Amino acid sequence: MRNFKSKPTPNPYLDPPSPSASDGLSKGDRRNFIRKKEDFVCENCGYKVVGNGYTDHCPKCLWGKHVDEEIPGDRASDCGGLMKIVEVTYLSGKFKIHYRCSKCRHEFWVGAAEDDNREELIELMRK
Ligand SMILES: [Zn+2]
Ligand SMILES: [Zn+2]
Repeated sequence: MRNFKSKPTPNPYLDPPSPSASDGLSKGDRRNFIRKKEDFVCENCGYKVVGNGYTDHCPKCLWGKHVDEEIPGDRASDCGGLMKIVEVTYLSGKFKIHYRCSKCRHEFWVGAAEDDNREELIELMRK
């Protein structure tokens, strides 16, 4: 019996031009966070929110304002609509809030801030 060893044929398609994988937005990558201090009045509850540079939502009722487009803090949106809370989850020691803009339906997730209303977060999580 012959031990027939076939040589691997050279593959002309071994190195195909790879499609540009530029949409590799890794989760949790916040190096692009743009810090900007600004105060605003919550349009939902009227609370005067003092911005600390990361503030994008009301710490009292937790509603947000649509000012960011892709990255929290980029202030790239001129929508200005109210960001309603869709859901709240608790992930690896942190609250995450899922928002949907009541004006343009844009959705995104933000991490809750230190001084956010914890009872409200827990209440929303139960819903
Ligand atoms: Zn509020
Ligand atoms: Zn919007």
